[in-house]
Amino acid sequence: MDVKKLEESFPGTVHKVPGGGILTSKLDDVINWARSNSLWPLVFGTSCCAIEMMSTAGPKYDFSRFGFEVARASARQADVIIIAGTIVNKMAPVLKRLYDQMADPKYVIAMGACATSGGPFFYNTYSVVKGADHVIPVDVYIAGCPPRPEALLHALMTLQQKIKSGLTREQIKSEMKTV
Ligand code: SF4
Repeated sequence: MDVKKLEESFPGTVHKVPGGGILTSKLDDVINWARSNSLWPLVFGTSCCAIEMMSTAGPKYDFSRFGFEVARASARQADVIIIAGTIVNKMAPVLKRLYDQMADPKYVIAMGACATSGGPFFYNTYSVVKGADHVIPVDVYIAGCPPRPEALLHALMTLQQKIKSGLTREQIKSEMKTV
C-alpha cells in the first residue's frame, strides 16, 4: 500500500526520526479504524434489490476493495446486515432472530424503498412491513427502487465513517437531532 495514503487515513501522527518514524495514536481510534475496514456483511436479500447487492460484490463494482468481501448468509461472523428487498410479516421474526444472533458491535443497512419504508407496498398491502426499523434499528438508509450498486458502496463507506468517528448509534442519533 502507498505509505503516504496510509498515513493520511490512519488515525495517528507519524513523527519522523532518523532511520524511520514513530507513530502515536489512541487505542480506541486504532480499534475503530480496524473495525471500519473489515466489515463482514450478512446478506439478507429477499427480492429485486438483492440483485443490485449481488452486483456490488461482482467484478465491476467489487466491494472487496473496501474490505467487505467476506459476505455470508450467516450471522455468526457478520458485523453488518444488508437488508435488500421487501420484508413481509412472516420474515420479520427471522430478521430479528438473525440480528440477535450477530455479535456486538453490529450495524444495519436498509437498502431500497422496500427495506426503508415498505416502498411500492406501503399502501394497500396487508403483508409487508413498512420499513426495517419497525423490526431492528437501522444505521444507514439507501433510497431508490432499486438503488444502484454505487449507492450501496456509498452507504457502506458512510457506515465506515460513522464507525471511525467512534460514536455509538445513540450518540449519532442525538447529534443528528441537534443539527
Ligand atoms: S425497492 Fe423496488 S427494487 Fe427494491 S425490492 Fe422493493 S420493489 Fe424491488
